[in-house]
Amino acid sequence: MGELRKDYFLERWVVIEPARAKRPSDFEKIDEDIKEGLCYFCPGNEHLTPPSIYTLVLENNIFIKKQDSEEERVKNWTVRVFPNKYPIMSLEPNAEHTNYPTESEPAYGYHYVVVPTPNHDEKFITFSKERWVTFIEVLRDITQFLYGNKVKGVGYVSIFINNGRAAGASIKHPHAQIVTTQNIPPIISNEIMAYKNHPSFEKCVHCSIIRVETGGPRHIFSTKHFMTIAPWASVNPYEFWVYPIRHETKFSEINADRIDDLAIMLKVMFGALGSVLGNIPFNMIFHISPEKKTTKLLHWHIEVYPRLTTYAGLELGSGIYVNPVPPEQACSVLAVSARKEYAKLHGVE
Ligand SMILES: [Zn+2]
Ligand SMILES: [Zn+2]
Ligand SMILES: [Zn+2]
Repeated sequence: MGELRKDYFLERWVVIEPARAKRPSDFEKIDEDIKEGLCYFCPGNEHLTPPSIYTLVLENNIFIKKQDSEEERVKNWTVRVFPNKYPIMSLEPNAEHTNYPTESEPAYGYHYVVVPTPNHDEKFITFSKERWVTFIEVLRDITQFLYGNKVKGVGYVSIFINNGRAAGASIKHPHAQIVTTQNIPPIISNEIMAYKNHPSFEKCVHCSIIRVETGGPRHIFSTKHFMTIAPWASVNPYEFWVYPIRHETKFSEINADRIDDLAIMLKVMFGALGSVLGNIPFNMIFHISPEKKTTKLLHWHIEVYPRLTTYAGLELGSGIYVNPVPPEQACSVLAVSARKEYAKLHGVE
């Protein structure tokens, strides 16, 4: 019989169904390749996207920040950030809206694409540590800009990666997206307010989770400043969450030392994911604070959802998910691989 588990703090239930237990090899090659034409994200095609707002170019071993103009595109870049050509949120002043039968407002916001590598065929699972460092730096800088004083109408900055078609990607070239909303999205405000409904939790549910999971059967890996767990009620097989161990609320203020350490963690974890499952579809979601508020701060973290199962009637109709891989099993498999990746990174056999 399966086990019905409740999330640490959300009203979300998961049936852990090991009777359907699948070995990692059963999941392989489930992703259909994305059909490809001309890639707008590749070097040489910069004119096919709106002008970049932020481009990193390596000159004499130093990264220089540049920006496109309408007439001229910056070439030879390492990272490129530009407005999405088909935005979900837009800055158009007179977007239509009505207020019946419920409230409504224009979908006002910024929508950027971040391309962290000029190499079309590079994969997140084989990103070098250096690639992760520059990528995180850019995400931090853009977050800082969007939460800064010069930008109006940003209540929350959503940062996410869709990798593979089953995860919603339509372009193979590695990329992330940044979408802003005027309001705080429900998942984020639920996470911030969760402790109120749980008297046993400290002020921060995430600090409580870290305390409960440290050294336990779902603790996958730790670096100096970060810790990765397979969450107790994982919705997805091999799901993992990456936490700053200390209570940190401002992703936009992450410093070089911590970026370096986070890059090690991501290199190790995505390396492990890749060696266990291959280049599977996944979503990588940053849960950060609505930083302009002073009271609603979140212990920021990253959640990674491998997309190996399909949500169907039960999930969509009831909010109860079925996960065939117990997180304890996912943890032990990923932990072994993570230690190997870490050893490789440090040249130890
Ligand atoms: Zn490309
Ligand atoms: Zn905390
Ligand atoms: Zn979260």
